[in-house]
Amino acid sequence: MTTTRFAPSPTGYLHIGGLRTALLSYLWARRKGGKFVLRIEDTDQSRNNEEAAQAILDAFEWMGLEYDGEITYQSQRGEIYKQYLQQLLDEGKAYYCYMSREELDALREEQTANKERPRYDGRYRDFDGTPPEGIEPVIRIKAPQEGSITVNDGIKGDIRFNVDDILDDFIIARSDGAPTYNFVVTIDDALMGINEVIRGDDHLSNTPKQMVVYEALGFDLPKFYHVPMIHNQQGKKLSKRDGATDVMAYKAMGYLPEALLNFLVRLGWSHGDQEIFSMEEMKSLFDPSDINKSASIYNVEKLDWLNAHYIKNLDNTTLSALLESHDIYLLSHDKREIILDVIKDRAKTLEEMAKLIKEILDTPTEYDPKALKKAFKGEAVSVLESFMSKSQSTPDLHLPSDYHAVMEAVVNELGIGFGKIGQPLRVALIGRLTGPGLDSVMAIIGVEETTKRIKNVIARLGEEA
Ligand code: GLU
Repeated sequence: MTTTRFAPSPTGYLHIGGLRTALLSYLWARRKGGKFVLRIEDTDQSRNNEEAAQAILDAFEWMGLEYDGEITYQSQRGEIYKQYLQQLLDEGKAYYCYMSREELDALREEQTANKERPRYDGRYRDFDGTPPEGIEPVIRIKAPQEGSITVNDGIKGDIRFNVDDILDDFIIARSDGAPTYNFVVTIDDALMGINEVIRGDDHLSNTPKQMVVYEALGFDLPKFYHVPMIHNQQGKKLSKRDGATDVMAYKAMGYLPEALLNFLVRLGWSHGDQEIFSMEEMKSLFDPSDINKSASIYNVEKLDWLNAHYIKNLDNTTLSALLESHDIYLLSHDKREIILDVIKDRAKTLEEMAKLIKEILDTPTEYDPKALKKAFKGEAVSVLESFMSKSQSTPDLHLPSDYHAVMEAVVNELGIGFGKIGQPLRVALIGRLTGPGLDSVMAIIGVEETTKRIKNVIARLGEEA
């Protein structure tokens, strides 16, 4: 059975790049009918791990990514790591190293001066003398001293590392006894039954080290997939400014989880020309071996396009719940339907939708000066006055089509084109010349508010004249 995992270090929030690896691991497990588990790598005691782990779980919940079973916390597994350290020491596969800080620095300096790669020289590898006084030893693992290690990567193919270039007997426990990252990840992955590891290729150089640990402990190797990084438009590593930020910040900006997940799955993976993927499709189509070998480019226009698509396709009940904090609940059900229908084709994010709602519901206090000038040439004021009196004397104006009929009656009576009423009316209602359909706006705000807005703009023109 396939078991994948997501193993974040709690740094305060779930990063968009982290979410992408989580998603890919999740999809692959689902496609294979396997398991997707979560491990919080919270060994760094200096951070506020609990809060940070919670932030990750919140983001998972918002995304609707479900993990299987209990969460594993590395901070609770100290005894397990200790046991395996002891096993390696007992089997002679790891050893105490008593090198002092000064000795290590001196060695490093010498190697740098000789233009060699700084590396531990193995001086305690076969040490059986009396340990020097006053040194708390680290534990090092016996790594191969020559030859090469090949990572059979599911995305990049075989990658050969020369032992000379990357390995030495690396530290698996610090002098305070704390086991190191490459050691604990290996133990956890093995004990948790992880047999497919999908992670960012920033971890590629750790993999040969982890393979040394797998070998020493006699664990089976998982299949590795190292996913290329996300780059910005300039081909550089994605920075915070480019969008490499907290997943929940995307929520605050008005993105929908469906859009974000769809966007992330398409970064470096494709299925023909298809752009829109439902979760069900992703689960049945995604295969990590189809991921591109090269970095993918973050493109916010693409995200906006996807988000607009998902907004447009949401039903109004779900949409109003998402917009709950905005004024939309002050409206009757019918009016809410009208407002959502008119704006959902016009907005890329929920935030933009909220802005459009406000623009419709709030009486304008400012008018775009250019629009004012353009719309109120000639007879505009008297056209609006005719419209005002006709709409006040027409009973039962409710639907956009009712208002449309009034506008039509006015243009027919006055023998003018639609633009002659449309432009000034639009400026009166929302303060500018572009925006949602006027008949819908009026149906939402009603006759009284429509009249008030027309009077306001006429009064403003009077002040300016
Ligand atoms: N905890 C590591 C990180 O957040 C990931 C470990 C792994 O995926 O192997 O970068």
